[in-house]
Amino acid sequence: MKICSKCRCAKLIDEFSFSSKIRGIRQSRCKVCCRAEHREYYRKNKARKRLYNEAYRKTNLWRYAAASSKYRASKLRATPTWLTDTQLALMQRMYENRPDGYHVDHIVPLQGDFVSGLHVPWNLQYLLASENYSKRNRLNDHPGSATITEG
Ligand SMILES: [Zn+2]
Repeated sequence: MKICSKCRCAKLIDEFSFSSKIRGIRQSRCKVCCRAEHREYYRKNKARKRLYNEAYRKTNLWRYAAASSKYRASKLRATPTWLTDTQLALMQRMYENRPDGYHVDHIVPLQGDFVSGLHVPWNLQYLLASENYSKRNRLNDHPGSATITEG
């Protein structure tokens, strides 16, 4: 039996979570009290946490862009397994250093009508967001590339 430092109840040892499982040390407060405290903390800090998350998102938009592109590419199996760490880091930096108002565009679209491009450094370019929306999945306006328009 152990006495909870909060509610002062004597409870079975299993009613106390580990603070360090490796050293076999348990919390001084029982699970019920800890749960109540967490709930109260969450309730009190909900608004502050939301503001923090919004601010984080705004300053780290490139992370989301890189992640969503990586996800789409992996879904399409467009990221070759033979890319080196340097090449992967290079792609990450392109998302990180993306100028305002620009998208990271796949020169040859990942989901083209006739050909599918790869998620590789040499298939990435900066494109004005408005240009990217108008380009959609078309592969054109690129010197040396075949002009393919949507049917
Ligand atoms: Zn308690």
